[in-house]
Amino acid sequence: MTLLFPLRQPASPGERDQQIMELALRQAHAAWQADEVPVGAVIVRGNQILGRGANSVEALKDATAHAEMLALSQAFAAADEKRLVDAELFCTLEPCIQCTGALLHARVKRIVYGAADPKFGGIESLVRLLDLPGLNHRIEAVGGVLAAESAALMQEFFRRKRAKLPLEDAPGSTSPGSIE
Ligand SMILES: [Zn+2]
Repeated sequence: MTLLFPLRQPASPGERDQQIMELALRQAHAAWQADEVPVGAVIVRGNQILGRGANSVEALKDATAHAEMLALSQAFAAADEKRLVDAELFCTLEPCIQCTGALLHARVKRIVYGAADPKFGGIESLVRLLDLPGLNHRIEAVGGVLAAESAALMQEFFRRKRAKLPLEDAPGSTSPGSIE
């Protein structure tokens, strides 16, 4: 497991969210480089990174291989626990209905995401799964963290795909100051 913020603690909860979202964006850039829809996710607990995931639907030929699912699998293995109580999931895109369901099963305490997903979003867009009555687990959700960066990455990906342009380097992929 990797420690978050080895050099300097963030000055505020908002800054902490942004710094962790930067790590998720790095996973989205990795997806881009692999010719996948650029979505990335990171799971943390306290000051530890439990899992990372980059969307791998094409590579794995698995329509469910979203960034959050891969980050969850890695986190379960790292924690050696079947539930991730007190963990937080950061994703560059609003988790879809599948992934929101998986995060409910995992009992994470918080979901932080960037851009909304009007097609499949399970937090606020297609359906508000976390607000369903009858759920015995509540998850706090925060959207819009580095949303412009996440959305721009997706839009540029699909623009180049439609225009049949080479992907080349992802915009903003040369972010300095690696925490990894
Ligand atoms: Zn998903």
